[in-house]
Amino acid sequence: MTSVGAPAFRSRLLPHTLRHGSQISFYRDHWKVRDDALPDRIDQVPSVSKAEHGADLEKMRHPGLRTALLTHTSGTTGRPFRRVRSGEELAAYREYIVALMDKRARTTAVRPLLAFNAVPRSIHGGALERPGVSQQIAIDTFSKRGLAAAIDVLADVSLFAGEDGRRPRRAVVGSPGMLTALTAAVTARGLDPATLAMDEINSVSDVLTAATRGYLTGNWPGTAVRNTFSCSETIGGARQCENCAGFFFEPTLVAEILDLDGDESAAGIGELTLTELYPFSQLQPMLRYRTGDVVVRQECGSRPGEICFGYLGRRQACPTTRTDGRSRVLVGAVELREILEDEPGVARETLVGVTDPVVGDMPLGPPRAQWTLHGGDTGTGTGIGTGTITGTAAQPRLRVRVQTSFSPGLFPAEAGALHRRLTDRLTRRVETAPGPQVAVEVSLTDGGIDGLDVRPLSAAIPAPGAEGAA
Ligand SMILES: [Zn+2]
Repeated sequence: MTSVGAPAFRSRLLPHTLRHGSQISFYRDHWKVRDDALPDRIDQVPSVSKAEHGADLEKMRHPGLRTALLTHTSGTTGRPFRRVRSGEELAAYREYIVALMDKRARTTAVRPLLAFNAVPRSIHGGALERPGVSQQIAIDTFSKRGLAAAIDVLADVSLFAGEDGRRPRRAVVGSPGMLTALTAAVTARGLDPATLAMDEINSVSDVLTAATRGYLTGNWPGTAVRNTFSCSETIGGARQCENCAGFFFEPTLVAEILDLDGDESAAGIGELTLTELYPFSQLQPMLRYRTGDVVVRQECGSRPGEICFGYLGRRQACPTTRTDGRSRVLVGAVELREILEDEPGVARETLVGVTDPVVGDMPLGPPRAQWTLHGGDTGTGTGIGTGTITGTAAQPRLRVRVQTSFSPGLFPAEAGALHRRLTDRLTRRVETAPGPQVAVEVSLTDGGIDGLDVRPLSAAIPAPGAEGAA
């Protein structure tokens, strides 16, 4: 492979991708060119949601290729989404990674990578081989026994050390909840994490909130703590930009940010839309696939010609109003969650094994809170998730119901102060969103909330079938 930058690499593969797409009946039926013509631009291809893409696999399949790998994700539709891949595309990805590694090995001394992976296979079915990882060890963070076994393995720092004395790079990979559970178990064992010689901690399936990142970096000094943004349906993830902490994708994918209202124009805040390039996508090609993630475009000069974006949250987890037919996000789900996590008075979920010998259960999971939107000409919102606001006759309201970690009845002054702080902070945040003003109503409750929808994904520890992990 000759060395080309990501934008040139993508423009070279795009015509092949579109030509290959013409063999798929769904795209041929829907794209915006004459029947006998091929699109030469990506915007002549319709954007496709997960529900549309998963509706009829037969229409999405290439007729001449056979399945070599099956992965799945439950998705936001609540239905399992099946992703099939052929041997040809897996081989192409392998070749691409090996070429990249060869190139890297020529310029830097590369140590083998030993990855301790907490994301179980049951979440996504089959797994892509990662040629860049020399050893992959599955660890379990879902039970106390699994955590104890994981720590025993982690503590053996001589594991897979090369004969030539090159210690492998060591990395833990997992969702924020898995990483939190593991870290708590290490400290509860009385181990100094520094003795585990971990080079990297990689969060997948969800981005780290500021509080979780602080917890991890505080407990793992000297270890790089990173977010990897990936979508289990596509090959290749996004790495954090050194310049602005946004994300940019691997060259195997073309990223676009399309407006939230389905008219396929580019937007500053919009839905992340990915095209997986040929030859990395062949059996079930993904062209302009709407991922369901709301992102914001970041102006960033570090990689010219590339899209750099910040992650706001899953679409249904971001309070979004519609004004004059246009959707606008009031506050991103990640930020909403961070605001709640800043307050110790807000109750949070407990994670398996996250206990302190003195305090007992340590609530380090997602905040226990719900939000709904109300108001506008239509009277009420459409339930949890998005509200419809079509006018200004009644002032729209964002209601946030928060469970406290203490009894508001016993500590009314503290409850009052917490209420004020949350109301002020959310109001100030929501005021910066364009469009008619939305009032914020915070209510505190002593318990009983279990539907938590401020999380970008369904849980910090995903249930089998949850989407998003790499
Ligand atoms: Zn950047």
